[in-house]
Amino acid sequence: MPRTSDASLLNQEPYVKYRNIGMKFGDTEVMKGINFDILSGEKVAMIGPSGSGKTTLARMLMTLEKPTEGTIEIGGKLLWHRRANGKLVDANLKHLRQVRGQIGMVFQQYNLFPHMTILRNVMEAQVHVLGLTKKEAEDRARKILKKVGLEHKCDAYPAQLSGGQQQRVAMARAVVMKPKIMLFDEVTSALDPELVGEVLEVIREIAEEDEMAMLLITHEMAFARDIADRVVFMADGQIIEQGPPEQIFNYPQHQRTKNFLSRFS
Ligand code: ADP
Repeated sequence: MPRTSDASLLNQEPYVKYRNIGMKFGDTEVMKGINFDILSGEKVAMIGPSGSGKTTLARMLMTLEKPTEGTIEIGGKLLWHRRANGKLVDANLKHLRQVRGQIGMVFQQYNLFPHMTILRNVMEAQVHVLGLTKKEAEDRARKILKKVGLEHKCDAYPAQLSGGQQQRVAMARAVVMKPKIMLFDEVTSALDPELVGEVLEVIREIAEEDEMAMLLITHEMAFARDIADRVVFMADGQIIEQGPPEQIFNYPQHQRTKNFLSRFS
């Protein structure tokens, strides 16, 4: 059974709550009995072998996937609830839209708009989703592009940038929306090794924003240890153990965790 999370031990109301989440794709059960919280502002690193369900959990929060069992709440409001009879009770459309607006997600593929300049890429959603004026959006975009070290690339197009630079733009584009939580899904795994450091550095900067929670799915163990408040180890669709980085990396309790971590030492 998954452990009681730190959040409920602290008796704080978590920002994100996964309760008894199960997931099947067709007849294949890929996840079962997941209980998992994220507090406001908490930085959570999720580690584990490929195929263990990390991305699927993140996609559920982003409303890209619906669980086949259990309940997810965000900001004290229901996102998904699957009744025992299998019927899905989802949040109303307005709430779903609000939730999407509170979550920033960066994937392995950066998905920038290829026909727009870097500046426009970072401005676009601010104008169309936040309703800012072009001037406001541009000022904020320039500021954040400076923060990720790309102010000199404002007028370039995505194809003119390296993979690491494009990934930094993708992060700027997500963070400029001031989400309450940022999800990073293996954002460095498609990059050439020499470009990984610059992207991790930007995540480190983002992590300094106290109010923004973070769910970081990663294979960069040293980095996870460094920035996370809590590390969650997943395997075979279950949370095997979780705790502060020192505990998970120095004193893992479960054999599965030990085996997994030994690959990185
Ligand atoms: P991780 O992120 O830990 O690598 P995933 O969440 O991507 O794991 O995948 C968990 C399991 O669910 C895997 O067995 C994967 O093959 C399966 N899976 C994920 N998405 C789909 C899908 N759309 N259809 C069928 N199976 C899927």
